[in-house]
Amino acid sequence: MTDTAVQQISALVIEDDAAIRHMLSVALQDTEFKLFEAATGRAGLENVTKRQPEVILLDLGLPDQDGLGIVKSLRTWSRVPIIIISAEGDEFRKVEALEAGADDYVTKPFGVNELLARMRVAWRRTKESGVAQDQPILRFGDVEVDQVGRTVTKAGLNIHLSPIEFRLLTMLASHAGRVVTHRQILNEVWGSEYADEAQYLRVYVGYLRKKLEDDPSRPSLILTEPRIGYRLQADPSRS
Ligand code: CA
Repeated sequence: MTDTAVQQISALVIEDDAAIRHMLSVALQDTEFKLFEAATGRAGLENVTKRQPEVILLDLGLPDQDGLGIVKSLRTWSRVPIIIISAEGDEFRKVEALEAGADDYVTKPFGVNELLARMRVAWRRTKESGVAQDQPILRFGDVEVDQVGRTVTKAGLNIHLSPIEFRLLTMLASHAGRVVTHRQILNEVWGSEYADEAQYLRVYVGYLRKKLEDDPSRPSLILTEPRIGYRLQADPSRS
């Protein structure tokens, strides 16, 4: 975005650390996002009603209430994208927040460009959701997934996937750009009785990478989110 970008997408940051709020307000100045700030959970929820933000950046460690509670309460009535801002070593809480309906997370200290990219993906996905689900063919770089014909091609060549590999790929694809936790994937692809069998997942992600990645040892399509889960890159050609 250029200096002349019109700030038209309202974003709300709920974060008690004034330095981070200030950094964000500077960073988003010349972007399409217009930032509103709240320093407490209470002020944050008030601002959600007042400003109707299209993206929310949420700190999990707030002075007056738990960020996880905010995710849960928002998700009872709103689909607004929520990106968690979390401290390092907070994996368990990040997983909880993702499973409660948060869309993504960044870990402090985070780069502004990375955050902006996440905000754009989350905002676009929410805007386009419902449209994307009706697309019979999903494209990720040179990989095409035909959800109706249940076929996958890479650079125009047919790739044979087992039923589980296909389910795993379409599950990740339906959340493209978004982190999906180990448990969410295992529940949906294998069933709830497998929710803790993370080694299955590692093995099958390995199979998919061998078949779909240009370089399986340096994946650009199915990315590992250490200790959290996986993310299917929404547009690998851009990475
Ligand atoms: Ca905090």
